[in-house]
Amino acid sequence: MERILSFSDEHRMFKDAFSKFVANEMVPHYQEWEDNEIVPHEIYEIMGNLGFLCTWADEKYGGAGGDFLYSVIVAEEIARQGVRGVFSWLHSDIVAPYIGTFATEEQKKRWLPGCISGEKVLAVAMTEPGAGSDLAAMRARAVKDGKDYVINGSKTFISNGILADLVIVAAKTDPAAGARGVSLFVVERGTPGFERGKQIPKVGLHAQDTAELFFEDCRIPASQVLGGEKMVNQGFKCLMQKLQQERLMVAITAQGASERMLDLTIDYINERKQFGQAISKFQNTAFTIAEIATDIQMGRTFIDALVLQHMKGANVVKEVSMAKYWLCEMENRVAAKCLQMFGGYGFCKEYEISRLWTDARIQTIYAGTSEVMKLIISRDILGR
Ligand SMILES: Cc1cc2nc3c(=O)[nH]c(=O)nc-3n(C[C@H](O)[C@H](O)[C@H](O)COP(=O)(O)OP(=O)(O)OC[C@H]3O[C@@H](n4cnc5c(N)ncnc54)[C@H](O)[C@@H]3O)c2cc1C
Repeated sequence: MERILSFSDEHRMFKDAFSKFVANEMVPHYQEWEDNEIVPHEIYEIMGNLGFLCTWADEKYGGAGGDFLYSVIVAEEIARQGVRGVFSWLHSDIVAPYIGTFATEEQKKRWLPGCISGEKVLAVAMTEPGAGSDLAAMRARAVKDGKDYVINGSKTFISNGILADLVIVAAKTDPAAGARGVSLFVVERGTPGFERGKQIPKVGLHAQDTAELFFEDCRIPASQVLGGEKMVNQGFKCLMQKLQQERLMVAITAQGASERMLDLTIDYINERKQFGQAISKFQNTAFTIAEIATDIQMGRTFIDALVLQHMKGANVVKEVSMAKYWLCEMENRVAAKCLQMFGGYGFCKEYEISRLWTDARIQTIYAGTSEVMKLIISRDILGR
């Protein structure tokens, strides 16, 4: 079925170039990156040089000023070629937009060119050991001291945590005010008092360097409050404003990965023979493919419609929460059904489906769990 998104010739050329780049420069090295549990910093620099990072950024900072479809293309290709641990879409379309939207002009000039070139890899640090779904319970503190802020606290599960050169850190500047007392700080690699803890061993997404971060009397000039001092205590609002795109990006990767798993499975079941025939000839196998393909088609229609709305600037928080919930659950359903059709081979690392199955598991948890998505959806519907 034709997609409802209208890709121009430029989009198509970009997609073609990026798709070849992923196939030639990522896929052949991906197992090594999984084994190393990190992707090379250099891959960001190469992507930046080729114009594959922060495609939306304004030309005056070195960007291409592209529309959101370029971001969609990058996230989809990474998911569709199975290199899930490369979180360039988090860098470009989840973290960098904080700088693009909220930073002062001086801050944009200082940081955006490095984000676009890939010299500066980005992370966003919200979650803490005691504050996951309940982000407002965060305990990291930033206290004003002269012209500086002094940050104390720890963050956990931070994607790109080891690679990151710039981290947007959420900390309380007015703890008594709860969510209204949160501010965002841009902390640079090498700042005294900012340490990375151990990389967290995970069951999937091995190439992704998820890490703990520690801040001990970490002194940051007030010029590194994101958006300047007028934005002190506005951090939670900024986080909420950006969650629509964050969750949309995760849903886009869920769709791309599901399509990949279907393709891999169709090839496999047509090849694999049991009882003298391809296993695709068994009605159960064919029907399972029909179920998966139907799920995927519904996902495609829904996500593309939301991308269109998002590009128009519509408030689709409820619908994006539905997409994050439904598509990530779908990805896990698809992963389980596809793996089953590979039989024992699906459980072996040699087969990509096994990795896609483990990589899928986190999707219903990060960027807001499925349960939190249901809270947002139900509150909206029930007017609470
Ligand atoms: C690989 C990975 C990458 C991540 N990347 C980042 C990152 O880059 N930056 C960042 O800041 N964070 C990141 N996170 C953190 C992630 O967003 C949190 O893990 C997630 O929000 C859930 O928080 P939690 O793990 O503390 O679980 P909890 O909040 O403790 O939830 C545990 C369970 O309780 C349920 N639950 C909680 N509250 C409710 C409720 N009110 N109603 C019903 N059920 C509820 C949850 O749905 C879940 O099932 C990452 C996590 C992982 C594992």
